[in-house]
Amino acid sequence: MKIALEMALLLTMSALVACSAPLERFEYARDAMGTSFRIVLYAPDGWTAHDAATAAFARIDELDARLSDWRDDSELAAGARAAAQAPSPPIAISDDLLRVLTRAQQVASASDGAFDVTVGPLVKLWRRSRRQGALPSTDALTASRAATGFRHLELDRARQTMRLLVPGMQLDLGGIAKGDALDVALALLRERGLDRALIVGGGDVVAGEPPPGCHGWTIGLAELRPDETMDEATDKTKAAALPPPGSAVHVAYAVELSNAALSTSGDSSRFVVIDGQRYSHIIDPRTGLGLTRRILASVIARDGATADALATAVNILGPERGLELVEQFPGASARVETLDAGRVQACTSTGWPPMMPAPADDP
Ligand code: AMP
Ligand code: MG
Repeated sequence: MKIALEMALLLTMSALVACSAPLERFEYARDAMGTSFRIVLYAPDGWTAHDAATAAFARIDELDARLSDWRDDSELAAGARAAAQAPSPPIAISDDLLRVLTRAQQVASASDGAFDVTVGPLVKLWRRSRRQGALPSTDALTASRAATGFRHLELDRARQTMRLLVPGMQLDLGGIAKGDALDVALALLRERGLDRALIVGGGDVVAGEPPPGCHGWTIGLAELRPDETMDEATDKTKAAALPPPGSAVHVAYAVELSNAALSTSGDSSRFVVIDGQRYSHIIDPRTGLGLTRRILASVIARDGATADALATAVNILGPERGLELVEQFPGASARVETLDAGRVQACTSTGWPPMMPAPADDP
């Protein structure tokens, strides 16, 4: 299974003592999409809660099977096979893939191609570089860049088809699919009347209505740590996704979230070091290589897919252009930390919520 090395995002529950409604709190955790998922919800009884969480996890698994680039039987793998004779004929796609690609193309065009789900061939090269500890050859890079570009992906929403216009194209939804899966899972809980819910998947979170008696869900914000090693980042990720009681994971700030999504993207948990240079798992489509600038972006948006895609895009665009991008999306805001000349600098867009000191302990 894909190793779970997602961005750290510490989640803490608002104090239960403040809540007096008759609903009970339930919590469920599962591995999916190569990371840890966690559902926290308030329900009238255990059966209702368990049934809904089981259905939500089943839907997440279904999306994983459909949208993963790791599985030979996924829709993406079928698309890549069709792209062997590009321009491909129109390929029929599921409602799920159409929804994700529609949002992906919107963010691609708003970010001028910084966010680009056609980076599949370049992601493959990055993974090979990580295995081999060496950068790709110029020829390999040139070939993969030629097979990349969101304008080479044609969507026909009316006919529910896509076409891949250049040979060798391959889609990679790693920067958006998790946020979308959280949206779908939250919608499923809402359909069952369970509005007071929170779902976390790696560095992405979606929140419904707050816990009873509370103003919102308290979400700890991951921080850019200049000296973080791969092992520390991995440990932090595991701890953050499933914080044990009394967890010692240090998070300085938290925000309150309800009926919105928050995604954090950066290179803390997935990077490769080659010849002393650190390359993020986020690819700059302009160079074809992983980003080398240390940056961490947290984005709040109305839905998980948008927050997820924007957080990835802000990494590539950097703080100035990144915040401009975020401000184009209604209800979206962002906080960006960069490491420049050894110093962490932070900036926030208008609309970013007030930050409070993170609770000392996870209940
Ligand atoms: P995230 O952790 O949400 O920022 O997503 C990172 C993942 O998105 C990577 O592991 C790749 O699968 C994919 N990805 C890398 N670079 C890009 C890019 N420029 N645009 C869209 N997705 C990307
Ligand atoms: Mg993302």
